[in-house]
Amino acid sequence: MIARTARRTLLVFALLLAFAHSAGETTLAAGPIGATPAIIAVDGLSAAPRAGRAFKNLDPEYKRASYYQRLHSLIVGGTWLVPESRVTPLATVAPDVRALRENGHDATVTWIGHSTLLVQLDGVTFLTDPTWAEKSGPFGGLVGVRRYTPAPVSLEDLPPIDFVLISHDHYDHLDEPTVRRLARIFNPTFVVPLGIGSWLADRGITNSVELNWGQSVKVKGLTVVCTPAQHGSGRTLVDQGHRLWASWAVLGSQRFYFAGDTGYYSHFKEIGDALGPFDLAALPIGSYTPRSIARPGHISPEEALQASTDLRAARFIGIHWGTFDLAREPYREPLARIAAEVGRRGLDPAAVWIPKPGETLPW
Ligand SMILES: [Zn+2]
Repeated sequence: MIARTARRTLLVFALLLAFAHSAGETTLAAGPIGATPAIIAVDGLSAAPRAGRAFKNLDPEYKRASYYQRLHSLIVGGTWLVPESRVTPLATVAPDVRALRENGHDATVTWIGHSTLLVQLDGVTFLTDPTWAEKSGPFGGLVGVRRYTPAPVSLEDLPPIDFVLISHDHYDHLDEPTVRRLARIFNPTFVVPLGIGSWLADRGITNSVELNWGQSVKVKGLTVVCTPAQHGSGRTLVDQGHRLWASWAVLGSQRFYFAGDTGYYSHFKEIGDALGPFDLAALPIGSYTPRSIARPGHISPEEALQASTDLRAARFIGIHWGTFDLAREPYREPLARIAAEVGRRGLDPAAVWIPKPGETLPW
């Protein structure tokens, strides 16, 4: 227990160091990066509001918890002090990589863990927020939050990856060692929100396209649309809000939605009206506590199901749980709350998926 508290304190210290280290870094270099595909505006979606250097959320009332509240929660308020919230690795299954490699047309989704999905649509394979990190945090994961459920497949064994979607720059969604390895092995196109293309370019990864909300690109015949989310960004104390956060829609013969990290707001309805109905929507169901701090930027399991309805999604897949020791809630609580809410709303349980890591589902 003491060791864990010490580790959290070390993480805070490391963040402060990272803050000092990156104080002079430019994060918003202008101009196209690499051979940028044509960017096309999409009707019915808002562009991201800005104030000075920082991006803002759509909700004018949006207010996240103060640094004091968040640090206080990080240092003294965590459930690592509570025995029943201790974590156990989820049971994983090894995905049938050969079948995934040979699949040229069926729509599939494989949960790797946290917000990492391997998705196939119309013969194109892509990843969402890829992380194979053992520890999620600064300095290439030297310090940070430990992974307690192993990735069910090694990154090197994946089928060829055509593109990668990144929702925002938080460490558990943008893992530097993972994106460096992906770039080296597969050279995928990184489709990212404004500001993250420059961050990748600073690391020698130039095969990327940066989008604002309401913009789209074609990648291998699929239309990839940058859509709003309600969250925040920052890898240090001085770059808060400098790189945009987003959700993503991928449109081909079927329609896929990936929420990233987000609080609940009218953007789900806006996206459902503009681009729905979706065949599959991936929404976070974990790390929603303590509610007083998490609510603006993280939906609860019940809000995830409401969001799926707003998006007009035929199928729901719950992600962002059971992988990193981030959550304040007991780590299996999202499962029980989703099951209860499915019953309360009279939803079809067969259309609400919480797969095992490594499990592949057709959609
Ligand atoms: Zn986040």
